[in-house]
Amino acid sequence: MISVEEAQELILAAVQVAPPERLDLLSARGRVLAETVTARQDFPPYDNSAMDGYAVRSQDGPALQVIGTVAAGQVPDFTVGSGQAVRIMTGAMVPTGADAVVMQENVRAEGVQIVLAQAPQSGSNIRRQGEFNRSGSALLKPGAILGPGEIAILAAAQRSFVMVHRAPTVAILSTGNELVGIDGTLSTGQIVDSNQYGIAAQIAEAGGVPRLLGIAPDDPDQIRASVEAALSADFVLTSGGASVGQFDYLPKVLADLGAEVVLYKINMKPGKPLMFAKLGDRQIWGLPGNPVSSLFCFWQFVRPAIRKRLGYPESAWRLPVISAALSQDLRAKGDRRAYLRGRVQLTANGWQFAPYRTDNSGDLVSLAGINGFAWLEAGITSATAGSQVPVVIVGEITN
Ligand code: AMP
Ligand code: MG
Repeated sequence: MISVEEAQELILAAVQVAPPERLDLLSARGRVLAETVTARQDFPPYDNSAMDGYAVRSQDGPALQVIGTVAAGQVPDFTVGSGQAVRIMTGAMVPTGADAVVMQENVRAEGVQIVLAQAPQSGSNIRRQGEFNRSGSALLKPGAILGPGEIAILAAAQRSFVMVHRAPTVAILSTGNELVGIDGTLSTGQIVDSNQYGIAAQIAEAGGVPRLLGIAPDDPDQIRASVEAALSADFVLTSGGASVGQFDYLPKVLADLGAEVVLYKINMKPGKPLMFAKLGDRQIWGLPGNPVSSLFCFWQFVRPAIRKRLGYPESAWRLPVISAALSQDLRAKGDRRAYLRGRVQLTANGWQFAPYRTDNSGDLVSLAGINGFAWLEAGITSATAGSQVPVVIVGEITN
């Protein structure tokens, strides 16, 4: 059995960053930029007012005569001379002659006269042309993650289309004679294929494109046919059938396909029977069937691969790990590294982790509301309330 960290290394080493594609700006949200975006104009493009107020000459005052008004979008056709001021709105071009803007709250207006409460500093409340970025210099570089701020920058640069790394397509195949599709009729001895949906949601959340392949029965020929059909996807995930049971056929199927099994079995609970194989330039994961195991294996070993393929920086491949104080005692068998699900919260006293009442890998219902897995290393069988434990964050942090 290899460690979680070794397994992550081996998997990530097998994955390459995806080639770029051209996308419209809003579709590029969450993607990683694959080009340098250079400003074709200064930001701001002209000296403009940061306030609603009066454009003045800083050496003048305190009593000034208002000679006109400039609104945003207007090009002022006058010059501010000695003893003069101009009413100006936020974002409006600063007229020549003026070198400061005084907030209207700091001015007493008396007809066409104003009186300044105090002498302005030269340059105050003016956003200078090119102050934020110069024409010809880079606004965003390759590797930038396109969040709302970056999308706004690209819009300001009039980039309605951008080059970003392609999102990987990830095929999901559930295997098992006991499985019935979401709308199927359950007979005795059958369960619903919930993994297909949980994993699809994880893929989408990680930035990949899920492709749902449905269910293959525990039959090596049918599993093989489904895996082969799935190989047009970047990544192939199977769930169930990777264990050592009599009807777990994935190891045989992978061998028949000529895939190179890179790793099998990880020193952790849940999720020990994870399989990862390479076939040409494709990667295949055999996730365990137990719902908590399959989702946890995805978070630990598939999500980082999706993020790398998307072009994310290495610091963003793996899920964040924090140190949290336990709200109650934690227990584990100690045979493997034990990941225990629960709820992590940031309180006034720092991070707190409240363990869920069970660590049963089959307890699908326990997945509701959890957002973290604390862990105890192999050989450690308990940790007491109040002590610090590492926690991998898998869901939203709320107050
Ligand atoms: P396996 O990995 O095939 O030995 O399955 C382990 C456990 O996970 C068994 O209880 C299966 O019934 C269950 N299981 C397997 N596949 C799925 C699935 N797609 N959705 C929900 N449970 C599953
Ligand atoms: Mg099975």
